Amino acid sequence: MDAPELEGPLSPPSTLTPSKLERFISCPLSFRYAYVDRLPEPPSVHQVRGTVVHRALELLYAAAPKDRTPAAAREALVAALAEHDASTDAAALGLVGEAREAFRRECAALVEGDFALEEPHAVNPVGLELDLRCRVEGVELRGILDRLDRHGEALTVVDYKTGRAPTTERAAGRLGGVSFYALLCEEVLGERPAEVRLVYLRDRLVITRTPTDQSTRGTRQRALAVWAAIERACASGDFRPNPSRLCAWCAFRDRCPAAGATAASSA
Ligand code: SF4
Repeated sequence: MDAPELEGPLSPPSTLTPSKLERFISCPLSFRYAYVDRLPEPPSVHQVRGTVVHRALELLYAAAPKDRTPAAAREALVAALAEHDASTDAAALGLVGEAREAFRRECAALVEGDFALEEPHAVNPVGLELDLRCRVEGVELRGILDRLDRHGEALTVVDYKTGRAPTTERAAGRLGGVSFYALLCEEVLGERPAEVRLVYLRDRLVITRTPTDQSTRGTRQRALAVWAAIERACASGDFRPNPSRLCAWCAFRDRCPAAGATAASSA
């Protein structure tokens, strides 16, 4: 097992995204492996399922409002699955037989979930998979919004979720990513969204929050503080492992010096 190397200075990634921010907070060593050392992470079924469903919904909402029907959603999913079949992710997952069919059924159920939560024909998207970047106090912030809607004067950020909805206690934490997107909208588009919405396709639940001066300021301060901690870790080469239940899904368990501690503590 390799011990973490205490060396420096290392180069931080060029941008800070919601996923990088959350990764550093949950485990600095995992962050280092993924975004500083850039070690490959094999895709999980959960991640790939999310990619396929996001793509199908992107295709659905790119159609004219009257054409956003359940039949069109099924066609969009067929197209998304065809793209997936030709991808390296499909080769890496290697699903065959019943596992492949189950994967496709799960994708279909998730896409159908959107019709239980939204009225696709009534939505006015002004951005799909919208790549926003801005520089805040020298830090390059970046986020890709699943969907940005405009209704009247109001903008709404929509983030599709294909995993389980959080408990009430954890919901606030899960909104960190969308608050980051709200900050990007304000910085890049000069307009704060009226709402941020997490659309949980599996549990058929929508969690909505209203960004405020306070939440935007807090998101900005948190992003800058995390970036400062990343720069300090890169300068010292000191990225601490933070064992948690997330270790069970970590692609770097084999090289992590704390992985044994994780197993012992969860035994
Ligand atoms: S196994 Fe756990 S402690 Fe180690 S890098 Fe992964 S998440 Fe961090």
